[in-house]
Amino acid sequence: AVTERQPANRIITSPLNVEIPAIDVASYVFSSGTAASRGTPLYFNAEKPSQNFSLDEAKIEVKRFARGLQKLNLQPGDRVLLFSGNRLYFPIAFWAIMAAGCVFTAIAPSASALELEYQLRDSGARALLTSPEGAETALKAAKATSISIDRVFLFGDPDENLAHPQIRPWTDVFCSPEEVRSWSWKHITTLEEAKSTTAVINYSSGTTGLPKGVEVTHYNLVANSEQVIFKRNSVADTPLGRQRKANIDSSGERWLAPLPMYHAYGQTYSCMSAARIGAKVFILPNFTLQKYLQFLDIYRITFMTTVPTILTMLDKYENTHHFNLKAIEVVTSGSAPLNGEIAARITEKYMRAGVKVKQGWGLTETTCSVTGFPPDEDDDGRSIGWMNPNCAVKIVPTDDDGQATTKTSETVGEIWVAGPNMMKGYWRNEKATRETVVESDGYRWVRTGDIGYVDGRGCIYIVDRLKELIKVKGLQVAPAELQLILVTHPGVLDAAVVGAKINGQEHPRAFVVRKNEDIKAEDIAGWVKQRLSPHKWLTGGVYFVDSIPRTPSGKVKKRDLPEIESQRVSKL
Ligand code: AMP
Repeated sequence: AVTERQPANRIITSPLNVEIPAIDVASYVFSSGTAASRGTPLYFNAEKPSQNFSLDEAKIEVKRFARGLQKLNLQPGDRVLLFSGNRLYFPIAFWAIMAAGCVFTAIAPSASALELEYQLRDSGARALLTSPEGAETALKAAKATSISIDRVFLFGDPDENLAHPQIRPWTDVFCSPEEVRSWSWKHITTLEEAKSTTAVINYSSGTTGLPKGVEVTHYNLVANSEQVIFKRNSVADTPLGRQRKANIDSSGERWLAPLPMYHAYGQTYSCMSAARIGAKVFILPNFTLQKYLQFLDIYRITFMTTVPTILTMLDKYENTHHFNLKAIEVVTSGSAPLNGEIAARITEKYMRAGVKVKQGWGLTETTCSVTGFPPDEDDDGRSIGWMNPNCAVKIVPTDDDGQATTKTSETVGEIWVAGPNMMKGYWRNEKATRETVVESDGYRWVRTGDIGYVDGRGCIYIVDRLKELIKVKGLQVAPAELQLILVTHPGVLDAAVVGAKINGQEHPRAFVVRKNEDIKAEDIAGWVKQRLSPHKWLTGGVYFVDSIPRTPSGKVKKRDLPEIESQRVSKL
């Protein structure tokens, strides 16, 4: 049912509260559950389930690597960059880097040498772990920065061949199990320390400009994990709810992890909440739809964290009857807008009675999750849910320049959020932090750059995006980064990149002012292909214009760019 929208600038706080312990990430994870549950295999390589580990086993490996990093002379607060796709030992590297007192930062496995170089420099990384597939890119990027080869390591699972002529395996750094038997990492026990100690730097372009490091503290990670767990624990008194409760009580939950763990979404769910509650995690190293469906089926997955791109593929998939997804109890989609019709069709096609595809919403700047699926029966799949416990939201209308206004007659505006999961700030970028984090009304607000409203029930809806960001397959594409690359092409005088909607999906599209007509669209598209990851390629097309409309401050005036029909068939 449609309920009235709340007026703008009204502060709406969650009526729910969870207690957030003052604890470091490693202590949080390794004090989970019971002695028995800590000894049970919890993380599995979905492709080879005999490759797995329990939290007790993980703890030893974490201590061996953490102590090893310290012996390399890495200091508290030093950044260690992981360049790898999902694999079984990814969470171990994640926990160990923090246990060493260092800061974890990671990049997409598809990153080019240029992108890796940018992040190595920006984060000031003191060590680099690369997967075998990324070794050549890592060497190129390391050479271009000041990171020395003896701080570059080959990262992989125990069953992988980590021999390389130039790069040592990361296991070379591991201390022996005897050496770490009586050693432990430095525990955080005060709120002050938990709130001030940076644990992770994830990259996001925020509301404008180039990708920036988002400083997430131990407190942020623990808070967001507790918020996610709280949502998962709120079960209705229905047959399905009672079954979920039984699964929760018996640690019978099984999660599939297709989401990249270099991104906040994968970290919060797969490396934090799942470990804490003892849900089994099946790590999917290389996503294919076929494997995804097969694993959802054979592992009887109960909790499906997913993204609209995957749901769109599922929606188009014909052989649905080959797979049984009826063990699924919860489906949550986040990272980009989900079409309500697709959500309804997936619910109908795959789910058992009572299970509905629900949306969640969050940002790298908010650690991960801010809202979650409402239990309302009449949810139409459009709302991103109600706020996490301990969070507040307000809708702030903006003027044409994107500046906040105090008009309370409106109900739609930029969504501002506050809570214990809000980032510490942008790494070494006070200006961007000041523009995004606003202290007022006794809250520390993060401006999300998303446009939406809140209805009378407290459910939040997103209707548009104020920020420049383009989302491709749930991944960030920063127009500013593409524009920079485009203007380095010798035949390009000026360029603007925007998101084009084609069949409901966003695609980066370039408008280019060229030096002469010999420059073709393919040259421009190829230039980007050679330099950036595939999700940043110009799949929305390249169009030539005489000039780029800009504001006096140099911002691209998107609305003044030519309108281009987008009826192409999607390549998805
Ligand atoms: P990231 O920092 O990569 O997680 O990207 C965050 C951005 O993704 C948000 O600010 C939104 O623009 C978008 N986003 C995430 N979840 C949703 C959702 N459920 N609906 C619409 N947009 C979303």
